[in-house]
Amino acid sequence: MRGYTHLAFALAVASSIETLQHRNIITLPVAVAGISALMPDIDHPDSMIGRKVKPVSWFINKLPGHRTITHSLDFAVGLCPVVLLSSNFSYWAWMFALGYVSHLLLDSLTLNGIKLSIFRQDSTIGFRLVRTGGVVDTAIFIACLLILSFLITKHA
Ligand SMILES: [Zn+2]
Repeated sequence: MRGYTHLAFALAVASSIETLQHRNIITLPVAVAGISALMPDIDHPDSMIGRKVKPVSWFINKLPGHRTITHSLDFAVGLCPVVLLSSNFSYWAWMFALGYVSHLLLDSLTLNGIKLSIFRQDSTIGFRLVRTGGVVDTAIFIACLLILSFLITKHA
């Protein structure tokens, strides 16, 4: 999925959670969810977050490659508890985990899928239904924008 779709999806889900808890949707935890939803694509120098940290992104892209370490389920299963434990299970850490996992969920829908394990390059898994940048990718982005627009007009 494109970076904008990951960002919009995470913001829509996080804002919906905030709304269900009768909170303002323009909060730091929602922003954390949006940023963490972009983080797995740090392994691609032309991604939204990769352009911001080009040397790091280039390094990760050249060694393990795109959709390897940062797009692995076992990496996420290791990273999210570390963030949660180091923040004493704070609310923003849960939003971090939500954003990161939402990225892997959406990328698992794409033709390239995600990795089950960073230790096995042949462990690609996913539904392989959606082409990145295709019609469904754009439809998900637009649906998330509509949800966000609704939430902002009703609850901001
Ligand atoms: Zn990705």
